[in-house]
Amino acid sequence: MAKQNGQYCSFCGRSENEVAMLMTGLSGNICNECAESAHEMVRETLKKRKSKFGLSMADLPKPQDIKAFLDQYVIGQDSAKKSLSVVVYNHYKRLLQKDMGDEVEIEKSNVIMVGSTGTGKTLLARTIAKKLHVPFTIVDATVLTEAGYVGEDIESILTRLLQVADYDVEAAERGIVFIDEIDKIARKGDNPSITRDVSGEGVQQGLLKLLEGSVVNVPPQGGRKHPEQKLIAVNTQNILFICGGAFDGIEKRIANRLNTKTVGYSASKEVQKIDRENLLQYIAPQDLKSFGLIPEIIGRLPILTYLDPLDRDALRRILVEPKNSIIKQYIKLFAMDGVALSFTNEALDYIVDKAVEYKLGARGLRSLTESVIMDFMYTIPSQETDKLEITRDIVAGKLDKNKMM
Ligand code: ADP
Repeated sequence: MAKQNGQYCSFCGRSENEVAMLMTGLSGNICNECAESAHEMVRETLKKRKSKFGLSMADLPKPQDIKAFLDQYVIGQDSAKKSLSVVVYNHYKRLLQKDMGDEVEIEKSNVIMVGSTGTGKTLLARTIAKKLHVPFTIVDATVLTEAGYVGEDIESILTRLLQVADYDVEAAERGIVFIDEIDKIARKGDNPSITRDVSGEGVQQGLLKLLEGSVVNVPPQGGRKHPEQKLIAVNTQNILFICGGAFDGIEKRIANRLNTKTVGYSASKEVQKIDRENLLQYIAPQDLKSFGLIPEIIGRLPILTYLDPLDRDALRRILVEPKNSIIKQYIKLFAMDGVALSFTNEALDYIVDKAVEYKLGARGLRSLTESVIMDFMYTIPSQETDKLEITRDIVAGKLDKNKMM
């Protein structure tokens, strides 16, 4: 090289006379301008790396923020909300930590929620995903079967996630999967030696692979795997699995366990404290085992939480309080026609009474409300009305003549 006399920047090649400052190193030099660009590049690269998962520690919502968000959409269920908020917070902390190349590896904590149907399990999972802006999908465990049998392969769970993530594998790999009706793949009967249990233990074994984190080959179009179909490799290590199930009859097992446990010197005291109306709050991993989940699956779902049954008061609140409550939705629909829709308190009470009477739970609230105002939704847009008040009499008139009920 011609540059033999004097010092030169090893990056841009300019001499010390051409730059404001030249720093010398062991085997090279760098000028002030190159140092500045290097600094900028380092900052950009680190920033990008920090936000690979779309979040940085600073903008990660704290458990209490997550809970407050859930409160806007889900009524009650404080215990499940708290567990979920902490789990999700830790999950994303874990992703950030991994990204920073730390040595202490935080393990993933998948969740299992136990609660009667229609108490808000799906709603909770869906709302969490909304808060985090991550791909989210709901799958029904009942359609899954062991490979080789009629039904869907376990991998199809990830097909749905890929689909909602627009086949962005990296996005899917940090998504949330809600597996509903996990109780339906429980082993039938307590006898583990029952051989072929197509929809039970075999499926649990298959699911295990997904839950514990592994690279799974996913058929992009779902269904069964064809030899000619190109498979997409998805790593499930950072996918958060939230399972939900009603586990009908598990209360009996909980009660049995509590009874046997409390035989002893402190028995009488403890028995009194047990709230027999809501035994789910005492659920423990061994109850899931006695229900028929294999211990390996239970081990991969370390966060066990429960949902409270919805009482009359909760149903009443569900009707009006959530940010997108059923009543708010209908008010909005009517407002788009320039009609101010309102319900009297007695009208709302009547709807709730019917939901309780027919044991329809929260799901029934929508169909009941719908059948009350269906006729109005049909006629009002063509009328010159700008106000509609739904009274108790209107509700009673509609619901009591409804043959379906
Ligand atoms: P699950 O998954 O427990 O069977 P869902 O979450 O699907 O029940 O609930 C069914 C519907 O009932 C929801 O879409 C929601 O409208 C309503 N709902 C149920 N529980 C609640 C709740 N705790 N707060 C608000 N709405 C609820």
